[in-house]
Amino acid sequence: MLTIKCAGCKRKIWKYLKIGKGQVLRCHKSKITKEYDFERREERIYCRCGRAICEDKGKYFRMIPKAFMHTGEKN
Ligand SMILES: [Zn+2]
Repeated sequence: MLTIKCAGCKRKIWKYLKIGKGQVLRCHKSKITKEYDFERREERIYCRCGRAICEDKGKYFRMIPKAFMHTGEKN
């Protein structure tokens, strides 16, 4: 399980079940297991500090490189 965090202020965004060792380019909504504090404006998800983290593409979020970091283990 990974914890996705804002790269700017380190606030937790959500927990994500990542399968495989690859980079986190997308977060599939069905594998987000816990949501923390964030803001949705139109098709984008923002951290509370104002940084855009990802874009809503329907079944998944496309992550914005360098906008986020993660801690934890890939499965
Ligand atoms: Zn932030």
